[in-house]
Amino acid sequence: MAFTSQVSAFLIANEGYVAQFDKGHLALPPTRKVAIVTCMDARIDPAKILGLQEGDSHVIRNAGGRAADAVRSLIISQQLLGTREILIIHHTDCGMVTFKDSDLQEKLKKEFHSTADHIAFLSIAKLEDSVRDDPFLLMQTYSLTFRTTVAICLFVLNFVTLTNNYDFFDEQLEILFKNWLGDNNSKYDSFDEYQRRLSIFKENYFKIQQLNENYGHGAMFELNKFADQTEHEFRNTILMQSQTSPIHSASRYMKFPTVRDVPNSFDWRNYGAVTPVKDQGAVGTCWAFSAVQNVEGQWFMKSKALAELSVEQIVDCDDMQQPDSGQADCGVYGGWPYLSFQYMMHQGGIESESTYPYCAGLKNPCEPCNAPGYNKTLCGPSVPYCLIKDSCESKLDTTKFISGLKVVDWKAINEDETNIAGALMIAGPLSTALNAEQLQFYHEGIFDPPVCNPKTLNHAVLLVGWGEEGSTPYWIVKNSWSVNWGEHGYFRILRGKGTCGINTQVTTAILH
Ligand SMILES: [Zn+2]
Repeated sequence: MAFTSQVSAFLIANEGYVAQFDKGHLALPPTRKVAIVTCMDARIDPAKILGLQEGDSHVIRNAGGRAADAVRSLIISQQLLGTREILIIHHTDCGMVTFKDSDLQEKLKKEFHSTADHIAFLSIAKLEDSVRDDPFLLMQTYSLTFRTTVAICLFVLNFVTLTNNYDFFDEQLEILFKNWLGDNNSKYDSFDEYQRRLSIFKENYFKIQQLNENYGHGAMFELNKFADQTEHEFRNTILMQSQTSPIHSASRYMKFPTVRDVPNSFDWRNYGAVTPVKDQGAVGTCWAFSAVQNVEGQWFMKSKALAELSVEQIVDCDDMQQPDSGQADCGVYGGWPYLSFQYMMHQGGIESESTYPYCAGLKNPCEPCNAPGYNKTLCGPSVPYCLIKDSCESKLDTTKFISGLKVVDWKAINEDETNIAGALMIAGPLSTALNAEQLQFYHEGIFDPPVCNPKTLNHAVLLVGWGEEGSTPYWIVKNSWSVNWGEHGYFRILRGKGTCGINTQVTTAILH
């Protein structure tokens, strides 16, 4: 039998292929759980472009790679064959931009005397529009049908480079952004600022998707209250400017028998020793929250009374410093809990939150001047503008100090995390610090970033307990970013591996 077409050549080629074929055992669904829609253009080889192997994905091809033409296959791919993500690839130099549907309909009418007006050929007027329209069509028209909410659309340029095209998502992301603004009570002063924040929000959207993919099941990240801030802004305003981490003398360390065994879990919140989660706002005052909340715990241990103490007093008045080793308390620019303990020892007491309330980080903040002995060398230039009426010298009233509360000393706890757990159980909630660069979008779970320098300490917090999830041990940490952040204001971080330096600056005040 003789074929006039390519068939005989194909049959020969296929015989060779069959002889070597050994992929029949590959698992279902496709390993990468992705369905790809792309143009039938003969120059495009999706496997080569995307580095795909047999068994990795479904590839659906049609003229232009149009989503509308692929709907049937996409539904089957997701509903019956287990794919999750849709990738649509359109390309430059596509034949689909060279005609209009009406041209082709006319041609068919002329040549075959039959009408093809009912067929949408889905020609492309503008390539940029098509990459926006196709995912939008899937999301709008078929949002109930498609399990994935996101279809990523890409351009192939010169059949080699893939360029992310986020345009298509603009409308949805702006709706998301507007909802976020409402939920977070945020407003911007100008349209320019709105645009700028919107574009940061969009960047963060994709960053968070990436984080969630990288972390797997350990921790989840979300578009939380910091979603309109760049990493850089977050580091510079919310986190502390980096100072050398203190090294404490051997005599500073708490002496107690080495702890070998602690219970699987423990939580000071269950004993009423922890005040509600606060919000430091848009300034770097975490160190004052960490120190004051440790003292709140110490006061609870001593008096069995839970009192909210004044963070603002520490922010406004504490000018403690140790220039030799490079640490200073710097108000809204950061500081160290151990120095705050020294300030409280020196000052003789602390007011309550109600007599000296927090205001430095509020939406309409107070404008305190720097503490009297503010160290410009270690802290940087003083605040550009301030009011005497908002400052320590006007506000501090030592007659309002909590009666009987005297900080007389402070102690450090060595880095062994079993010892820290033991100390926590004996002494109460402990002040600590960590590298919190990647904590910005934390939502829930056990924080354990793949890379996190334990020597870069830029955030102070309060250890209140520990536990285990499956076989993964964690610390329970009270943060000062409001109850709307993380796990109702708390986060969990891996315990036992010195994650992000969480075990390196554990300190506590000692009360009289
Ligand atoms: Zn094409």
